[in-house]
Amino acid sequence: MSMTKRYNYRAYPTQGQCGELACLFGACRHAYNWAIEQRELMRRRHGRMQTYNQLSAMFTQHRHDPDHAWLTSVSSTPLQQAIRHADKAYQNFFRQYKAGRTRIVANQRTGRKRRTGLPRFKSRRDGEQAAEFTKSARFKIEHTHGCKWAFLTLPKVGTVKLRWTRDLPSQPSSVTIMRHADGTYEASFVVQAEQATAPAPIHEACGIDMGLESLMSIVHADGTRQKIPHPRTLARKARRLRKLDKQLARQRKGTSNHAKTLLLRARAYKHIQNQRKDMAYKLASTVTGENQAVALETLNVNALARTRMAKSLLDANWTRIITRITELCAQYGRTLVRIDRWYPSSQICSYCGRRDGRKPLNVRTWQCPACSTTLDRDYNAAVNILDAAGLAESLNARGDEVRRALAAADEAHLSTKREPTEPYAFI
Ligand SMILES: [Zn+2]
Repeated sequence: MSMTKRYNYRAYPTQGQCGELACLFGACRHAYNWAIEQRELMRRRHGRMQTYNQLSAMFTQHRHDPDHAWLTSVSSTPLQQAIRHADKAYQNFFRQYKAGRTRIVANQRTGRKRRTGLPRFKSRRDGEQAAEFTKSARFKIEHTHGCKWAFLTLPKVGTVKLRWTRDLPSQPSSVTIMRHADGTYEASFVVQAEQATAPAPIHEACGIDMGLESLMSIVHADGTRQKIPHPRTLARKARRLRKLDKQLARQRKGTSNHAKTLLLRARAYKHIQNQRKDMAYKLASTVTGENQAVALETLNVNALARTRMAKSLLDANWTRIITRITELCAQYGRTLVRIDRWYPSSQICSYCGRRDGRKPLNVRTWQCPACSTTLDRDYNAAVNILDAAGLAESLNARGDEVRRALAAADEAHLSTKREPTEPYAFI
């Protein structure tokens, strides 16, 4: 089965091309903001909206106005795409609005009220800038087999050098050229790609407990278990970020030194972003690749992110890991079971089933008053999740002692210990 995918490549435009691209991004931003403005005017005056086709025709007129000559110096396709994106933003907003999922919030500083989800104006101070070329813009890619570099020709920009890391699986239907906050450029192609073949699973099933002490505690139905430590990506960069923030506070806004520090900070954040993405993707691919069935908790990350644990929690990247696991399970044909959010996985003894109430987060191990097993908080929860998902059959078939050892705090009874495999060894 083929599916739509994005293939991204780092781009290295020349200084002149950077200038051309800056003009192009500016024009796209203008088109987007213009479309939003037109829609808002129409809504306020007449209580309705233009269709995309009407907007598009209006923009053609606007573009050929002698006052806006600078809009004709760039390719017209990205501008039309920008209007299309604004249109899409409105469609998304209305879907949310009709479903009753928007609300009015006030800005804490200015007191100005706005509705959530309503498309906003783009600013040239936004870090991320982009322009999309479709097939009709006739962009061209040249690549000699085995060559490290490829050349992307964009109308009215020129031929931009790309670092070619892998071949495109098919002719791309569009390309988006982006400038990130850290000053790097990227070209993103939309292609049709064949689905990757699923690797053979090693374990029948696994239960996963997500935590902050250890990022994931995984128990497999064949009696093996492992813990994956929290990567603490943010914490390890915290000193550097704090230093840059202090520096920024001392520098005057608008000076070139201030701009330099802003760039350094953007780079530091980009590094964190890359590390987090890399970790989440590798982890998700290992978990889904190795197991035929995966049992997970349903977590309310948004609610937890309002607590004191927010920084560490968001650094753990749970949402991204879970989203990726869900995607891969669908692709590989694996079973994914999500356990109810209110299931008391850390209150029940996974060996005898006694429920002895909530425990504060600092209790990592405890002894079950009924069967006197010393339980490990995370592993015990993972076994319970496996149980609740109805995937523990083969674990139960292995006997009581295997089950007991799996949730126990000491490793003495554990028949087979598993060393963490390669992708986890990044800590
Ligand atoms: Zn017990």
